[in-house]
Amino acid sequence: MTTYKAPLADIRFVMFDLLKVEAEYQRLPGGENATRDIVDAILDEAARFSEQVLAPLNASGDEEGCHLDKATATVTTPKGFKEAYATYVAGGWSGLTAPEQYGGQHLPESIGAPLKEMLDSANLSWGNFPLLSHGASEALRQHGEEWQRQAFLKPIVEGRWTGTMCLTESHCGSDLGLLKSRAEPQANGTYSISGTKIFITAGEHDLTENIVHLVLARLPDAPPGVKGISLFIVPKYKVEQSGQMGERNAVTCGAIEHKMGIKASVTCVMNFDGAEGWLIGPPNRGLMAMFTMMNTARLAVGIQGLGIIERGYQDSLAYARDRLQMRSLSGARFPDKPADPLIVHPDIRRMLLTQKAFAEGCRALSYYAATQVDLAERAPDADERKRADELLSFIIPIVKGLLTELANECAYHAVQIFGGHGYIRETGVEQYARDARITTIYEGTTQIQALDLLGRKIMQTQGVGLRHFLEEISAFCHAQAQNAALSEFIAPLAIAAKEWADLTQEVGKRALANPDEIGAAAVDYLFYSGYVALAYFWARSVAAAEDSAHPADFKNAKRLTASFYFARILPRTRTHAQALRAGLETLMGMPDAQFG
Ligand SMILES: Cc1cc2nc3c(=O)[nH]c(=O)nc-3n(C[C@H](O)[C@H](O)[C@H](O)COP(=O)(O)OP(=O)(O)OC[C@H]3O[C@@H](n4cnc5c(N)ncnc54)[C@H](O)[C@@H]3O)c2cc1C
Repeated sequence: MTTYKAPLADIRFVMFDLLKVEAEYQRLPGGENATRDIVDAILDEAARFSEQVLAPLNASGDEEGCHLDKATATVTTPKGFKEAYATYVAGGWSGLTAPEQYGGQHLPESIGAPLKEMLDSANLSWGNFPLLSHGASEALRQHGEEWQRQAFLKPIVEGRWTGTMCLTESHCGSDLGLLKSRAEPQANGTYSISGTKIFITAGEHDLTENIVHLVLARLPDAPPGVKGISLFIVPKYKVEQSGQMGERNAVTCGAIEHKMGIKASVTCVMNFDGAEGWLIGPPNRGLMAMFTMMNTARLAVGIQGLGIIERGYQDSLAYARDRLQMRSLSGARFPDKPADPLIVHPDIRRMLLTQKAFAEGCRALSYYAATQVDLAERAPDADERKRADELLSFIIPIVKGLLTELANECAYHAVQIFGGHGYIRETGVEQYARDARITTIYEGTTQIQALDLLGRKIMQTQGVGLRHFLEEISAFCHAQAQNAALSEFIAPLAIAAKEWADLTQEVGKRALANPDEIGAAAVDYLFYSGYVALAYFWARSVAAAEDSAHPADFKNAKRLTASFYFARILPRTRTHAQALRAGLETLMGMPDAQFG
């Protein structure tokens, strides 16, 4: 069984050298407290908690899973989870970025990104409990009435309660317009919520005294489809407007799912049998409010992907250094040993470098997205907030879609590097492959992210977010044009960025003739976008490393990994460009009946 070591050197590099958060934070309300000393201390503590408290519970939690007592409809989480949660709350982590008036520390959102990464690398299942609470907090903060924030947000921020997102029903997953749960207005201003939600993460558990469900349901006179969905707060124990907790509400866990991975994260069937709830936000505008939560949650699930990539890489590297098999083709590298370690073999290095390039590149991309959350919320200037918001909307489906897909690829490489020892359970890496699998599915599948990116974020906005991002790339290429250290990267990056803009135009034109062209291009477009975005962050990383006080080895490793990325990963864009240019006909030409 392996241990987890938080990659603090690279986390600090991304935050302080690449994204320059120290100076940025000083411009933002709440950021003035986030001095270098404070952020360093937070990172050290997060690393300690993840390494020492959460990581030791990862394999045991996977083995034990969660258990439902049907008689009492209560769920027991694996041994140690409850205590770990209590330690998390005592450490003040649940309120790290929440507003001060609701009990939080109001630190910039992007400080939460490395915390999230470390929790997820250490124990993805456990990390789901705070993840959902964070999403619920955001929805309450942005759309709740003041009494709702006082009554529901405060206890979540304090970590006394957790939150859920209740969207999915058996017949309605990606297509929320189909949902049937009902909300009947009551004379006292509450609503009676009825329906069955499935696959609800953290729907029932023993970590906290209450659970706040955010539930999508329809009012009696609601129009059909997505325009008739409202959002309700439904607590497990009823809550007075004063915040006083009352009797048990009519919401119960009917069953828990037995699943492929994240076995210690409980996935519940939730029955709402006339449960008391409160409307949050305007009637029939629930999806808008839920999107707030989804954006936060989608960025967080992208970071789950990063967590898995990093963890698998650490294990793979240790194993490749230790395991002796066969000799290097060019002659023994360690003649005193019975065989050479795996790391001498070129193809093992291909997989290791792929993991390393994705771990560090995805860290840069996802933390960058988190800094856009800071700017969209807190930048002093309205234009800057607007620009960050547009950039963020555009980048989130890329972060969610790409990082989770790459997590699956990297978990596959981890198992492959371990060979048969990776396939059996003892070494722990097969758990990463099972745990990673859900990340491309929940919070919107890769296809849904791709449609969101190309359909909504590009076509419906005339590509405003993409334009901002391409401007950044162009400004970077321009500024670095004479930098000899970057000569290998700037020209291919500029070419890829230009092709990205061209491809967008081409798909846009085809979509005017037939909207199905968007569906035919979307996933290839998402991958194309993601690989170019990573190329940008790799080139920036080399530049930032050169400018930093890091030792020569660190700078060299950044440059060599960037070279690997540009030579061996960026060319994947060729396949995606060609595939998406092949268009709709290659997919729809086959009559349904002739599939076999
Ligand atoms: C472990 C786990 C935890 C979960 N946690 C939660 C939770 O906390 N709250 C919650 O509400 N839900 C939760 N979910 C549900 C999850 O969000 C859904 O499973 C997911 O959104 C997909 O919906 P579906 O399973 O119904 O698949 P479907 O929507 O039936 O999709 C099936 C396939 O068709 C594809 N597809 C659908 N429409 C299109 C299209 N237009 N174009 C191209 N492809 C398309 C999808 O990408 C997918 O590959 C969870 C699920 C799991 C398994």
